[in-house]
Amino acid sequence: MDQPKRVVVCGGGVIGACTAYFLAAKGAAVTLVEMSDVACAASGKAGGFLALDWCDGGPLEQLARASFNLHRSLAQDLDGPRSYGYRPLTTLSLTVIESEGSSAASTLPSWVNGPARGAKTIGTPETTAQVHPQLFTRTLVDRAVERHGVEVVIAKLERLEVEQGRVGSVVLEGGRVLEADAVVLALGPWSSKLVLLSSLFRVYGLKAHSIVLEPREGSLITPHALFLSYYSSKRGAPLDPEVYPRPSGEVYVCGMSKEEEVPEDPAEIRGNSESIAMLKRVAKSVSSYLGEGEARVKAEQACFLPCTDDGVPLIGEVPGVKGCYVATGHNCWGILNGPATGAALAQLILDGHSTIVGLKPFSPTRFLGRRKA
Ligand SMILES: Cc1cc2nc3c(=O)[nH]c(=O)nc-3n(C[C@H](O)[C@H](O)[C@H](O)COP(=O)(O)OP(=O)(O)OC[C@H]3O[C@@H](n4cnc5c(N)ncnc54)[C@H](O)[C@@H]3O)c2cc1C
Repeated sequence: MDQPKRVVVCGGGVIGACTAYFLAAKGAAVTLVEMSDVACAASGKAGGFLALDWCDGGPLEQLARASFNLHRSLAQDLDGPRSYGYRPLTTLSLTVIESEGSSAASTLPSWVNGPARGAKTIGTPETTAQVHPQLFTRTLVDRAVERHGVEVVIAKLERLEVEQGRVGSVVLEGGRVLEADAVVLALGPWSSKLVLLSSLFRVYGLKAHSIVLEPREGSLITPHALFLSYYSSKRGAPLDPEVYPRPSGEVYVCGMSKEEEVPEDPAEIRGNSESIAMLKRVAKSVSSYLGEGEARVKAEQACFLPCTDDGVPLIGEVPGVKGCYVATGHNCWGILNGPATGAALAQLILDGHSTIVGLKPFSPTRFLGRRKA
């Protein structure tokens, strides 16, 4: 029998975790290298919202649809007894104007008792769902270790050894070398810190904030995700925060993003106090159950969306380096699109092509010639 292919996956966010999981399930001998902690960055601090058809009509349509369905089947296989909080949801869009009085629209869930109006259903339990992103990512890695013998190494990838245009190994900080038949670089917004990648394309970080609240009356909060147009009396332009209740009774609120330099160490990422204060204000305006005194603030945090110049992820072989693959740039849809990204890459690396999703729109060759080496 042939020896299994040795694949080193670098980056323990949702993209690296999904890729390691599907590679190992298909028989590869996988080592996952993470410099800090699995799901320490955006993949641990995201909303975890999933939508079947919100990317329809664009290059992400197939990836998103395949991923949404894979999330459902993964949850049946891995989420017992509801270990990472997968559940279908109703999703509403609504306008909140701070300066207006509370409304009691019958179309709103009873806990949304602030000055909200214009509610529209934009997702049903058939088309929208959620996971707890940190628990999802960690569960995938744990199962990949238990079921398929994946090895997790906590160390920073320093560089790749490339000979005659083919990757042969990765070198970790401290000098440890891992031999590899293939390497996957799933470094999120840190991708550009590797010269091999930054010479080919730009991946930049958009810093976004979030808070996690634990309301005293958590059992009253129904499974309704909220996409807001929020008019603060303190700011001119409307904001577009999102509110995601979780099955645990917690409520996650996110928004307030801007482009910023990504620090070397994920542990150094701190939220800006004004952005966090604004999210608390949003929560209190949406629901009295989420205001100070009624809800404990469990987390105040920030993280970076990994973005490309054309808004489309990079998934495929790195031009000029056989056996080296990149998977990043998933922007605001990495938790959704992790599963089909990982499954498609596993097919590409082990079978030579992907049948789950056509990877052409994501080819890293599309930026060739556009960036100075
Ligand atoms: C506020 C917010 C809300 C979001 N909500 C949603 C949502 O509801 N639904 C959705 O689908 N998406 C959402 N997203 C987007 C999603 O979080 C990201 O697209 C996704 O997490 C990116 O995953 P990743 O694995 O590419 O990157 P990351 O999660 O950043 O992981 C990269 C990993 O690589 C490691 N690493 C980097 N460099 C090295 C190195 N040299 N050596 C070893 N390890 C290294 C890092 O430590 C990190 O763990 C949200 C994002 C934000 C910021």
